[in-house]
Amino acid sequence: MTTPARSDHRRRTKILATLGPATDAPGMLDALLQAGVDVVRLNFSHGDPSAQVARAQAVRAAAERAGVEVGILADLPGPKLRIERFAQGRVQLHAGDRFDLVASSDAAPGNEHEVGISYLGLVDDVRAGDTLLLDDGLMQLRVDRIDGARIVTTVLNDGALSDRKGLNRLGGGLSLGALTDKDRELIGVAAQIGAEFIAVSFCRNAADMEEARAIARSHGCDAALMAKVERAEAIENLAEIIDASDAVMVARGDLGVEIGDAELPGLQKKIIRESLARGKVVITATQMLQSMVDSPIPTRAEVLDVANAVIDGTDAVMLSQESAAGKYPLKAVEAMVRICIGAERQFEPDTNFEQAQRDLQHTDQAIAMATMFLSEHIGVRAIVAMTESGGTARYLSRFRSNVPIFGLSRHVGARRRMALMRDVFPIDFDSRGLATREAARDAMKQLFDHGLLAEGDRVIITSGDHMEQHGATNTLRLLQVGSAGKAEGLGEL
Ligand code: PGA
Ligand code: MN
Repeated sequence: MTTPARSDHRRRTKILATLGPATDAPGMLDALLQAGVDVVRLNFSHGDPSAQVARAQAVRAAAERAGVEVGILADLPGPKLRIERFAQGRVQLHAGDRFDLVASSDAAPGNEHEVGISYLGLVDDVRAGDTLLLDDGLMQLRVDRIDGARIVTTVLNDGALSDRKGLNRLGGGLSLGALTDKDRELIGVAAQIGAEFIAVSFCRNAADMEEARAIARSHGCDAALMAKVERAEAIENLAEIIDASDAVMVARGDLGVEIGDAELPGLQKKIIRESLARGKVVITATQMLQSMVDSPIPTRAEVLDVANAVIDGTDAVMLSQESAAGKYPLKAVEAMVRICIGAERQFEPDTNFEQAQRDLQHTDQAIAMATMFLSEHIGVRAIVAMTESGGTARYLSRFRSNVPIFGLSRHVGARRRMALMRDVFPIDFDSRGLATREAARDAMKQLFDHGLLAEGDRVIITSGDHMEQHGATNTLRLLQVGSAGKAEGLGEL
């Protein structure tokens, strides 16, 4: 059995970091994983497949060195509109300047007067007076007129613009279908990498998620499917999207542009609440520590934003530019660790069984519910979930309690998927060949030997009759750690 290398089990909220040029620096990936990154995001919008494969290999090697379970999220580009590249990689624009978007497949590399755009149909989709938002709204352009393949605009604010930044129209309406041919192809790359999570950008409905899942499975890939909620249609179809997904991302960058930033706080809370109620993992993403792209410390507002997401109940918080292309990736991760731990201290566990889901559909879900009820009412030190797929750990962790959940699985993929779940600490444990009663005692003894449990601790252990089956958890045991880690039954409660 390998134990989680991090000695502190204090941080419950998980951290996702996007990889990019800044994390390619020698030693950086090791430093980030040691600092506490639980899942890394490969942004498939940038770089070719060979670059993704190389980064994935670097992650596996660094995780091995650090002795931690780290998941890989392959984030598909989706039908996002982007500007092309600049001759110098980056330009500075000033309010009042003219700036043209050139919808042509052979547009020259950009400069401070113009840049190419890959979607040639854009000239038909925009009109004079429209506001175009680039880079999640950091740069705003007003459309003055269309001149052949040129969209002539006026820059509305000072700022920098760099290669391949995203482009939206204020109020939405530019987004196309969800899965592009490129996405379908890239699911194959995600499968090749062995990604534990695949994110579908700009998904509109359950069918988009089901299509992505079917393609992944056809490649023999058992990745969890993550829906990025980032357009108006996804909000309309929120319940069916969550039901069709394993995890959900509050993708605040595009969502804020599509529906207006004032709607974001309410929607973030709603998406988190709905995801938990429907048994799914939920991630809060984008601009969480944006100023740390250039600054070694976050603003107070950013500290509050990360903390509020934790208090809203998110499973994980995500870094984008801050880690991928910022000056201080390690400081950004350290700041998130610090803020999460601080916020968790403020967090009021939410185990209101009156409001808990009543229409239980799976046995493991029912056992999870009973476990959490007991854990709240008799007080236990930890919950130990012996799980094949990680499914029981997921149901257990949908309740936001204060009790840590040790997710024991012999499958590396299940452990890495559990790495994204709040309150869950994945542990390698193989119970094949043991009757589950013995396996439970064995697990307890080993957790004791590794200092994760102490004499006198009460624990609840969940397991199935046949540990080789997914979703077969049907038993909970209430045990106490005796001397030398020996499992004992409980008498008086
Ligand atoms: P992106 O997704 O970074 O791929 O755009 C997240 C978001 O839109 O917030
Ligand atoms: Mn997005």
